Amino acid sequence: MILIGLGSNMTGPWGLPAETLDRAVEEIAKNGAKVLARSSWIETKPYGISDQPGFVNGAIEINTSLRPEELLVMLHEIEIAAGRKRREKWGPRTLDLDIIAYDDVVMEGADNSLNLTLPHNDLHNRSFVLLPVRELNPLWQHPVSGRTVTQMLDELGKN
Ligand code: ATP
Ligand code: CA
Ligand code: CA
Repeated sequence: MILIGLGSNMTGPWGLPAETLDRAVEEIAKNGAKVLARSSWIETKPYGISDQPGFVNGAIEINTSLRPEELLVMLHEIEIAAGRKRREKWGPRTLDLDIIAYDDVVMEGADNSLNLTLPHNDLHNRSFVLLPVRELNPLWQHPVSGRTVTQMLDELGKN
């Protein structure tokens, strides 16, 4: 499965956070990917930096012939179109699009020019990623640890 995580906690040119995520899905579908499934959008507490508005998060499953690096470039272009300005890690943003996983591809950011790590290096610690992924496929397995998304949520104590 190719899984994209979506997040927003600022109103931008595409509207409120949930509207921004809706539009982001449309843009992904228009730019070289087929959207196979989408999770609910859930309201979540900010991660990392607590002094900012709550987020709306979700995940989609896509199919694409783009390679992982090409997909990341496409996602970055959509973030910019959605008015993303600050690149502060974990800070407020109109739109954040992360590649949670690209099939069973495993790569280290240090080894490529885009700094792309697959699967996303912190996904197992984030209920706002794991809950939407479980909705899409409770049996999805992390290609390195072999754990299912359901097991990862159990380990976080959020089942
Ligand atoms: P986090 O990655 O912890 O969720 P963030 O999303 O706030 O933090 P950004 O500022 O959006 O971080 O992105 C920083 C960089 O992370 C991007 O420029 C990108 O090259 C890199 N990156 C590495 N792995 C991934 C991935 N799996 N998906 C998206 N970006 C990634
Ligand atoms: Ca992120
Ligand atoms: Ca990101």
